[in-house]
Amino acid sequence: MRIDIITIFPEMFAGWFDHSIVKRARKKGLAEIHLHNLRDFATSKHRNVDDYPFGGGSGMVMMAQPIADCIDHLKKERNYDEVIFLTPDGEIFNQPMTNKLSLAENLIMLCGHYKGVDERIREHYVTMEVSIGNYVLSGGELAAAVICNSIIRLIPGVLSDETSALDDSFQDNLISPPVYTRPANFNGLKVPDVLLSGNEALIRQWRSVQALLRTRKRRPGMLED
Ligand code: SAM
Repeated sequence: MRIDIITIFPEMFAGWFDHSIVKRARKKGLAEIHLHNLRDFATSKHRNVDDYPFGGGSGMVMMAQPIADCIDHLKKERNYDEVIFLTPDGEIFNQPMTNKLSLAENLIMLCGHYKGVDERIREHYVTMEVSIGNYVLSGGELAAAVICNSIIRLIPGVLSDETSALDDSFQDNLISPPVYTRPANFNGLKVPDVLLSGNEALIRQWRSVQALLRTRKRRPGMLED
């Protein structure tokens, strides 16, 4: 999978993509991430990418021209499955969405700043608008990193045990059951006996029940779905 991220702060991504599973995916050639500095597509003398809003009001708006030129430039090279704009009023990101996006070959992610981007970009260039929650961040970079992380870990071959992602929370509309590791007795706090029993059928049954109980307690709406 190839992900092209359009941003005015490419340097922000360094830490997020250089560790753990995303780093491994990049090293194995399973995920390529290309950062594009929007200012490289600005045509004005001072490489401006924002301007005052028509009609007045506070804040600046990201101009259409540099964004359109950057997207056109990328689209000349290859076809894209989606051009995603990160925006607080987009569709709320969730596991079914990340499952679907993990099957894509090429994605563009556009990170906004200031008051957002000129509406004409949203109407004519963007194919999908995604929010990571009902709150406002100062820029789309964190949201893009969250989505990239969530997608990349699902690409076949990225996780050392691929079945591990299948019993994550939100797959199958359930929350994951509790997990424990050694020691079996930590300062008097004991691991449930069933997990030490070696009886695989009983352990599977216990985990299913725990997943249901947790889902009912923490996300009852998911069971109604
Ligand atoms: N004025 C915009 C509004 O009220 O909808 C908010 C703009 S916000 C300060 C600047 C940029 O941060 C947005 O264009 C978007 O790219 C990003 N952003 C902020 N909150 C986000 C969220 N919850 N999910 C995804 N992106 C977000």
